[in-house]
Amino acid sequence: MKCHRCGKGMKFAKGLKFNQSKIDGWRCGCGETYFDPGQAQKILLLNKLKKEAIKIRLGRIRSNLILRVPKAVEDALGWEKGKEVTLRIKEKEIIVGI
Ligand SMILES: [Zn+2]
Repeated sequence: MKCHRCGKGMKFAKGLKFNQSKIDGWRCGCGETYFDPGQAQKILLLNKLKKEAIKIRLGRIRSNLILRVPKAVEDALGWEKGKEVTLRIKEKEIIVGI
């Protein structure tokens, strides 16, 4: 990848600081940095969602209540169908994590 500021080749770098997270990107000797756009977008979406209280309605399939994860949350966390997650009950809240 070429730097748009100085025209030199940029070096791929892992773990660049972006909004208190670390993502991959490219660095140039002139000081210019490009972040991986897909990873950057995920971080921005995740930061936005962290500030929201997302309301969802419980569904039911046979005897099980179904908790639907909105598409935006799926995208931000990179979760997909079939992924195993863990439920923890905390007073009247459920914490879902990996
Ligand atoms: Zn440069």
